[in-house]
Amino acid sequence: MNRAKVGDVFGRNTVLEVHGRKAVVKCSCGSPARATSISNLLSGGPNQSCGCWRKERMLTKNPNPEKIGDGSRAYASWVSMMRRCGLTQTGGRAAPTKDTRRYLEKGITVHPAWIHYAQFLQDMGPCPPGYSLDRFPNRSGSYEPGNCRWATINEQNRNRDFCVELAFEGKTQTLTEWAREVNISRHVLERRLKEGWLIALALTFPHERRGC
Ligand SMILES: [Zn+2]
Repeated sequence: MNRAKVGDVFGRNTVLEVHGRKAVVKCSCGSPARATSISNLLSGGPNQSCGCWRKERMLTKNPNPEKIGDGSRAYASWVSMMRRCGLTQTGGRAAPTKDTRRYLEKGITVHPAWIHYAQFLQDMGPCPPGYSLDRFPNRSGSYEPGNCRWATINEQNRNRDFCVELAFEGKTQTLTEWAREVNISRHVLERRLKEGWLIALALTFPHERRGC
């Protein structure tokens, strides 16, 4: 059946209008809307974007060192980030894995802008040798600008245990030190960050003690 309706999503394309066998689609990269045939959309494959997906892939298959540095490592990280969050490289739904379910349950997602590798690379820069993608400072937060860094294994492990460091207003210190400074218990601060509070809020919002 040659069917598509307004609002349907094919990879990065969203259908805006349907006219007979033609559809007007808009790509999530922000390029202008354009017309395409519905059978093209339904066939999948190379018609999942305005062409930006193919461009991004060519860039990474044949990286120009001057343009994207060691793009291949950053690209591999981007691919596994997408995969962990249940996304294909065109931003569609990937078949769920054990890993994916764990991430989805925790509500960890990829920021819409980072569904596009080019934007991810622009924000993160190339991945230095020996480094990998780490969600930081909010370990329970999503993959989004401001909450990711390239980290060594040691840094990642430190982030996982009790020596979590927080950067706020130009100052970086451990959770315990912050808790002491803002006069909130470490336990409360930790819970707030786990619940996904913004750092600024977690550190400044007064904590009401019950029963007094
Ligand atoms: Zn596009």
